[in-house]
Amino acid sequence: MVSRVIPVDRFDLVIFGATGDLANRKILPGLFRRFCAGQIPDGSRIIGAARSEMTPEEFRDQTAAAIAEFGGKHSGDEESLKGFLTLLDYVPIDARGEDGWDALKSKVRPEEINAFYFSVAPALFGDLAERLHKRGIAGKDARIVVEKPFGRDLASAKALNATLAAYFDETQIYRIDHYLGKETVQNLMAVRFANILFEPLWNSQFVDHVQITVAETVGVGGRGSYYDKSGAMRDMVQNHLMQLLCLIAMEPPYHFDPDAVRDEKLKVIRALQPVVPADMVRGQYQASKDAPGYVEDAENPDSKTESYIAMKCHIANWRWVNTPFYLRTGKRLRARTSEIAITFKEPPHLIFDEAEGEWRENVLVIRLQPNEGMNLKMMIKEPGPGGMRLVQVPLDMSFAEALGEEADITDAYERLIMDVIRGNQTLFMRGDEVEAAWAWTDPIIEGWEERGDKPQPYDSGSSGPDDALMLMHRDGRRWREIRE
Ligand code: NAP
Repeated sequence: MVSRVIPVDRFDLVIFGATGDLANRKILPGLFRRFCAGQIPDGSRIIGAARSEMTPEEFRDQTAAAIAEFGGKHSGDEESLKGFLTLLDYVPIDARGEDGWDALKSKVRPEEINAFYFSVAPALFGDLAERLHKRGIAGKDARIVVEKPFGRDLASAKALNATLAAYFDETQIYRIDHYLGKETVQNLMAVRFANILFEPLWNSQFVDHVQITVAETVGVGGRGSYYDKSGAMRDMVQNHLMQLLCLIAMEPPYHFDPDAVRDEKLKVIRALQPVVPADMVRGQYQASKDAPGYVEDAENPDSKTESYIAMKCHIANWRWVNTPFYLRTGKRLRARTSEIAITFKEPPHLIFDEAEGEWRENVLVIRLQPNEGMNLKMMIKEPGPGGMRLVQVPLDMSFAEALGEEADITDAYERLIMDVIRGNQTLFMRGDEVEAAWAWTDPIIEGWEERGDKPQPYDSGSSGPDDALMLMHRDGRRWREIRE
């Protein structure tokens, strides 16, 4: 199968924070790959901005180095690199200062699509929004892209929304959750809503439970003191896991339209029940023989912040009543993997005897990383002349194989940036969604703080704390193994 590349219209994209980690690792190499794919039209401009004094030439050199490291299989394509670098420009600007804005204004062409990527600390979002608006650099059709974290609780998210809303309409604000840009996540919607096969089974009558796992092998390392103020709940559950849960649980939208999709996701978040303490397990990784433990990484020996969380959630609506959603995420776990597994119930009546093989549940596994793809575990007859014997096999679909070369080069960021240029907000979080997610998260965190809950220790390289296993065992279920 060949994936089609549909060029976007010509644009001017300003990247604030162009000297930072995200810009160099993801945004600029991603744009380069889109350029190589022929998706970025001639005459587009990519303008870097940050406080660092740098000439446009130096910015191009910095970008070339970033592409050499993070450009993927196009890294060595000198011809394309030369072409891409001609699109680049740079303006030194302090988001809180008054210099450099006139120079920026002179480079951004109002007649083209204008997008402004805020790849800076959220504390600067308001300063950037205000200056772009007041200096007439961002017109009414301009788009702004904001990074996570979007607030640290409901009050701060509301304040941030209000700040942006003072200068930009909601239709201009693109809140990035890069999980939504993954091929598999979009395919989840295609599988659910472009096929009749699953939808009749997609409810508590047929689905036993859902597991969402986002496991990392890395610790909090260099950003320990930042992470210690956040924890897995704020860093991962409130945004990424919640978004995945919404896409699985939402009702079919009336149309594949940004607000129709986001309206349905919002209903799911609002239907999420409060989680009782017995349905949650928090953990902190311990030192291993070659790596420090969480409290050392966080430089806080008394830290009560979780680097792991597992929880059982319920959605109070007709479709999902009695189907638990088990979420877990953590650092320094056994393998780096993200997946959603939908486990279906037993057939109402089994006609085969145990001697014909043990019956196993149908499971639809949607893998986000590594090897984006889907697989459906099904019972079939064991091939051969041995009589009727049942065996479970996976029907496997890896997107890298199915889509060929293109599949492994479009990562979430580049896909989402192209959506910004197209003006399509479907895969971006709306302000009310973010607030609803915090409204669900806040009481959980407040409960830990009031009770003084301490996370349980778990071994680095393990699957998390033992109590997390019990969370499933006591329901007669088990977690899927964490493996790549
Ligand atoms: P970073 O490496 O610290 O870079 C921050 C950037 O902001 C630098 O380019 C810095 O350049 C610029 N900056 C700082 N103060 C400024 C000011 N007053 N005016 C203008 N520019 C200023 O951070 P990052 O990791 O790239 O993250 C950027 C944003 O993305 C953050 O909101 C972060 O939470 C989010 N994010 C990052 C990642 C990631 O993988 N890195 C993932 C998800 C979300 P100068 O010092 O030259 O000004």
